[in-house]
Amino acid sequence: MSRSPVEIPEEYGLFIDGEWVDASSGETFETIDPASEEVVATVAAANADDVDAAVSNAADALDEWRSVPGRERGRILMDVADAIREDADRLAWIETVDNGKPLSQAKTDVLRCGEYVAYYAGMADKIEGESIPMSEGYVDYTVHEPLGVTGHIIPWNFPVGILGRGLAPALAAGNTVVAKPAEQTPLSALEIGALAVEAGLPAGVFNVVPGFGPDAGEPLVRHDDVAQVTFTGSVPTGRLVGKAAIEGLKPVHLELGGKNPNVVYPDADLDRAVESTVKSIFSRNAGQVCSSGSRLLLHEDVHDEFLDRLLTAVDDLSIAPGVEDPDVAAITSKEQFDSIMEYIEIGREEAGEPLIGGEAVDRTGYFIEPTIFDGVEMDMRIAREEIFGPVLSVLTFSDEREAIEIANDVDYGLVSGIFTSDIGRAHRFAREVDAGGVYINEWFSSGIEAPFGGYKDSGLGRAKGLAALEEYTQTKNVCARID
Ligand code: NAD
Repeated sequence: MSRSPVEIPEEYGLFIDGEWVDASSGETFETIDPASEEVVATVAAANADDVDAAVSNAADALDEWRSVPGRERGRILMDVADAIREDADRLAWIETVDNGKPLSQAKTDVLRCGEYVAYYAGMADKIEGESIPMSEGYVDYTVHEPLGVTGHIIPWNFPVGILGRGLAPALAAGNTVVAKPAEQTPLSALEIGALAVEAGLPAGVFNVVPGFGPDAGEPLVRHDDVAQVTFTGSVPTGRLVGKAAIEGLKPVHLELGGKNPNVVYPDADLDRAVESTVKSIFSRNAGQVCSSGSRLLLHEDVHDEFLDRLLTAVDDLSIAPGVEDPDVAAITSKEQFDSIMEYIEIGREEAGEPLIGGEAVDRTGYFIEPTIFDGVEMDMRIAREEIFGPVLSVLTFSDEREAIEIANDVDYGLVSGIFTSDIGRAHRFAREVDAGGVYINEWFSSGIEAPFGGYKDSGLGRAKGLAALEEYTQTKNVCARID
């Protein structure tokens, strides 16, 4: 690896009440650079006692934070957003070394984290209730109040982006936050915690407890003083978290996996469709994306031409350590690398040799070649299960009805995409597809302003946009007799 231009501390503590502290057990874990397989840093491992300390500080900070007038809360958050954006190069380097992703993508994620904070900072003084007409003699109005301490559990694929996605609306609405980053990628959340306090966020409003799921995540979800839980991760863990939250009668926002259909018709702009397909499953975070286009549904009349073009584009992708900013960088962990390689073997058994790829790259680090399986059928595991890596399953269809049937024939329903120049067909697809998001003529064609979330097993609730504020507020109705 090239010499780091960024000084990364060798040790990180927990970040509680504006201070770095050791884990009460003294336990630590190592975070690994997946491109070099070397240790990046040693990180304190939180347990239930540490989570309790973090929640108790967040609870103590709550009265003050929720009483800060919205405009002032927004101003403080705007300072936090600026601090994140100004420090983007350093944070991006840390994210790349911790997670593996290409440097320019890490920078986009950091800037996006700043954008989330800025977007919701602007909302902090606009969380308005309604006045509701009642019969004569009564006045009725609603107030949207914060829930309290919110617990955020973050996955490893977009550590800083997903942190910002939940943190920003929670804080803007007047809640305080305890975040548990993924054990594979804890550094950016810790860095943002410290930066936010330096930028003026009162201590205790945002605390970070790195650690493992059962040791730190579960106690956070189950803590009596945590009023709401935001979880992003896999369906099995999401189910556990959802059950635990509901047992505690607390609202839970679940952002889970996907097996998303990317449908291409012969009348599409094929250059754009190929470029989008490459981004959807290979060059964005090596396909480790919940909203990846992991199932490519090709109309039979465009199947051969599209695949010819796609193979040429995929063949051109560079594969290298994230710090060299390639198209495809390392898989984030050895565990995920093994899981993807296992799915590639399953794919070979089910669908035969891949058209391209199918091997690990022969070098240090967890690199996997972009891989495409053609002739996939919906009874195969590689058509139904989330692989979460640079592996594309190609299916063929002959008409609109069949495309919709295949698109909807999975337990997931996160996003979907269609490439066609027929506007009616695009919107018929949008109406009939079971997915929380529809991309028309560009994969990932959406922003932080638009709601995001899953149908079916892909989740509960909505992130992003104004919709997310509903996850972090509760509605009080006030009715007065006035005669
Ligand atoms: P994961 O479910 O293994 O872990 C997610 C987080 O949950 C980690 O922080 C982990 O430590 C924690 N955790 C584990 N066990 C826990 C428990 N019992 N109680 C509480 N917390 C626990 O998921 P992952 O492998 O880190 O992430 C990949 C998954 O996330 C994929 O399925 C992907 O599709 C999904 N994802 C969804 C979105 C979205 O917005 N819908 C975004 C990114 C990733």
